[in-house]
Amino acid sequence: MATSRKGTELVLLGTAGGPRVRADRAGISSAVVVGDALYLVDFGYGACRQIKLAGLDLAELRAGFVTHLHSDHASDLANLLLYGWYENLEGTARPVELYGPGSRGSVPPGAAELGEAAIVCPDEPAPGLAAMVRYLLRAHATDVNDRIRDNGRRHPDELLKAFDIELPAGVPFEADTAPAPAMEPFVVYRDDRVRVSAILVWHAPMAPSYAFRFDTEDGAVVVSGDTGVCDNIVTLATGADVLVHEVIDEKWVHGQYHGRDPVARAMIAHHTEAHTSIPDTGRIAHKAGVHTLVLTHFVPGAIDRPRWHEAANHFDGRLIIGEDLDRIPLSR
Ligand SMILES: [Zn+2]
Repeated sequence: MATSRKGTELVLLGTAGGPRVRADRAGISSAVVVGDALYLVDFGYGACRQIKLAGLDLAELRAGFVTHLHSDHASDLANLLLYGWYENLEGTARPVELYGPGSRGSVPPGAAELGEAAIVCPDEPAPGLAAMVRYLLRAHATDVNDRIRDNGRRHPDELLKAFDIELPAGVPFEADTAPAPAMEPFVVYRDDRVRVSAILVWHAPMAPSYAFRFDTEDGAVVVSGDTGVCDNIVTLATGADVLVHEVIDEKWVHGQYHGRDPVARAMIAHHTEAHTSIPDTGRIAHKAGVHTLVLTHFVPGAIDRPRWHEAANHFDGRLIIGEDLDRIPLSR
C-alpha cells in the first residue's frame, strides 16, 4: 500500500442512532480519510451535509460501505446519488464503488410479541444494496433523466456502482437462524491506500449486517455498524488501533419502553439483543486489545450524558465519546 500523503484520520460525520430527525446530532455516518482518498461508512440522515461541513471533498471519494440496510444507515444514499452531480461526485476519476448487504432473502418472522403483520412490496420484500440503488434511481427517474437530457449530466452509472457483498464459500450464514456465525474476516475492497475487510455481526433480525475494518499504512480502524455482543466483532478488531463501536444506554431503554404492551416488550428485546450496552462496549474493546474506543450511534442521541463514560470501567485504553465532526488521527 502506498504511504498516504497527509496521514490517515477517522472523521465522525454523524453520531446519532435511530431513524429520528435530530437537531443535536446528525444520523450515523463515518469517514476514513487516507491522504487524499476518502472512504465512507454508512449514510444516515444528513451525512451529505456533514461531508461538506467536515471540509471533505466528494471528488476524493473512492468507495462507500453500508453496514446494513436499516434506514438510519442508508437514507442519505439518495442524496449522494441525486445531489452528487453538483457536489463534485462528477470530479471522481472513476465510478465510486459502493458495497453493502445483499438481499436478506425473506422478511423476518414476526417478533414473538407482535406476530405476522402485513408487509410492503410482498413481491420483493427484502432487496439488497444494489437493488436499493437501482430502485432509488427508478423512483427519481423523472429528475435523473431531466438532468441528463437538459443539464448535460453524466449517467449515474458513470458516477457510482453498487455491489452486494458476497460471503465466502462455506460461511454458514442463514438470515433467520444463523445471522452471524463464527467466521474469519474477508476482503471486500482494496486499492493502493486501504484494504477493507468485512465480517458478519449480530443485528438480528436485520441480516446480513456487517462490520468493516480499514487497514492502512498508518494503522487500522474498525467500524462496528449495529451489533449486539458478538465474538465476530472481537475477531475483526483484534490488532486494530481504533474501534468505532455503536452503543445504547440500556437503562434508558428500559425507562423508555416500560409497560407490558407487546410493542414495548418487542422494543426492549430489540434494543437489548441487537445493540450493545455501555459496559459491553468497554468489554469488547478490552478483549480486542485496541488502543482507542470511539463510541458512536448513540441511543438515545442526547448529548452530555456522563453515563457513556462508564465504558471506561471495563477498558484501559483511550475512550472517546464521539461528537459530530470529531477528527481522530491515526499514527504509528
Ligand atoms: Zn440497525
